[in-house]
Amino acid sequence: MIQDNLAKVEERITKACIRAGRKREDVTLISVSKTKPVEVLKEAYDLGVRCFGENKVQELCEKYETLPKDIHWHMIGHLQRNKIKYIIDKAELIHSVDSLRLAEAIDKEAGKRNITCNILIEVNVAGEETKFGVTPEELPDLVEKISKFEHIRVRGLMTIAPFVENPEENRPIFARLRKLSVDIASKNIDNITMSVLSMGMTNDYETAIEEGATMIRVGTGIFGARNYTQV
Ligand SMILES: *Cc1c(COP(=O)(O)O)cnc(C)c1O
Repeated sequence: MIQDNLAKVEERITKACIRAGRKREDVTLISVSKTKPVEVLKEAYDLGVRCFGENKVQELCEKYETLPKDIHWHMIGHLQRNKIKYIIDKAELIHSVDSLRLAEAIDKEAGKRNITCNILIEVNVAGEETKFGVTPEELPDLVEKISKFEHIRVRGLMTIAPFVENPEENRPIFARLRKLSVDIASKNIDNITMSVLSMGMTNDYETAIEEGATMIRVGTGIFGARNYTQV
């Protein structure tokens, strides 16, 4: 099943790239494996998958210990400051930084280990009350402040768009995130690049690619529905 799903997702990514006049290699597919057991991840790994996304610290750590070391782990879920220490040396990119306090704590933890931590800033573009992320209005100031931290590199922006029936409804959201990233990039702030736009999930990743996504996070489309009662 995973093999077929991956092939379908791959084909749709390729077609979206062609429609948008973009190169396939400019879009990274992150396979979102949250709630799935390691055997399932291993199956995907054996099919060539190397980028996995997880939203819980403990789950990421357990899978990290068990699975091969050439996997690129992406932390895509809300992160509590007291758990940073567990994933700072395991996650290649933290997609979900949404406050100065969290960034400060990441900087401190990275400093202790003398490493640099790559992060994205999560923006709540749609303004949904149930979602994390800074507002577009808060973003410029937060970026300026985080740029002063020695052990953090901001690589771009992330958003979680609303769940909608028709992905076209999310097009303005993706376009807005892209515009925000272009505006920040034009300021040429030290320690800040806007090379990553993490947006698009199973329901809307093609639209996100058309609007400039460089990382898409696809779970259900690859691994099937999640069963939360087993976790
Ligand atoms: C679960 C999750 C996804 C994947 O969602 P699907 O709809 O299953 O593709 C993507 N991004 C984040 C932040 C998630 O928590």
